[in-house]
Amino acid sequence: MSIESLCGLTPDEILALIAPEEATMRHAVSVANSIYKKRLASLREFPGIPKSLRERLGTVAGSGLFPPIRTVLSDDGSVKFLFRNEPGQLYETVFIPEGKRQTVCISTQSGCRMGCPFCATGKYGFFGNLTARDMINQVISLPMAGQITHVVFMGMGEPMDNLGNVLKACRILTAEWGLTIAVKNVTVSTVGVEASAREFLETSPYNFSLSLFSPFPEERIRFVAAERKNPAHRIIDLMKQHSGERKRRMTIAYVMVKGINDSDRHLEALKHLAGNSGIRVNLLPYHPLPGDLNESSPPDLMQHFKHNLMISGISASVRRSRGADISAACGLLASGLAEISTPGQAKQV
Ligand code: SF4
Repeated sequence: MSIESLCGLTPDEILALIAPEEATMRHAVSVANSIYKKRLASLREFPGIPKSLRERLGTVAGSGLFPPIRTVLSDDGSVKFLFRNEPGQLYETVFIPEGKRQTVCISTQSGCRMGCPFCATGKYGFFGNLTARDMINQVISLPMAGQITHVVFMGMGEPMDNLGNVLKACRILTAEWGLTIAVKNVTVSTVGVEASAREFLETSPYNFSLSLFSPFPEERIRFVAAERKNPAHRIIDLMKQHSGERKRRMTIAYVMVKGINDSDRHLEALKHLAGNSGIRVNLLPYHPLPGDLNESSPPDLMQHFKHNLMISGISASVRRSRGADISAACGLLASGLAEISTPGQAKQV
């Protein structure tokens, strides 16, 4: 009999697993609390269920929790973790403390198949989707799990390419029986996969962020191949339709590359795209990979963009670079993973 992971299951699924004729939903919720709130790795420690049920559960399931295999600390306080699951998939997670805000940035895939040329994850290849268990474990197996206030799906992988598992993970993160993280503190980022973005926006309440790179399609294609089949303007139209509902936050993430996408022409086009929409613009520094001669736009130009967006009535911010010294910043995750060979590592699919 195969052993199921309790992490990644809902109480309904847990109840089905522990013989519903002998257990109640209260027992199932108690098991969920042991996993998601108490973060107990051993079933023997699970409180709130009869010993007979605990023993029965132990014959069919384990907690499914496992620790990172490597931890790297940045000078700025960010921490990068490397995980390897049973199939051998490698993926990274970043913890970013900032005052009272304690964010964890999680991966949704091992590698990515979107192939954005500036991104180390895209260059790493694609080793498959992560499960909801793998995503939740990236939060609750961290040493600082109890302090986490925000979760962003901005690590390795394209979340809209693994939407079912991402939505399930979001539900577990925010459920009363789960981690009880506020819905408004969960953000999912994408380069744009239209059908999945539509489903995400129509069926869930979580924040949504689109990585734009350029407001001009012919230029954006050079950074984001997905633009060919999933034009950003169509994703932004969807965002506008859902902006303002359920207090969810819609964001355009705009990585600024010196001399490439930081001209006044780009600024005007950005204002046109985001104006009167409730969509905010987050301006990010560019992190070139080795051999890439491009560099980030200078801080004063990023502030100039922010100022001009704001006086046009668009909410805008400049995001500080975090974790660049440990290859944990945007676009740098998966740097060096190709050198880690593990016997069980999944083949590229
Ligand atoms: S930027 Fe995002 S979508 Fe593009 S290759 Fe990297 S992880 Fe994938």
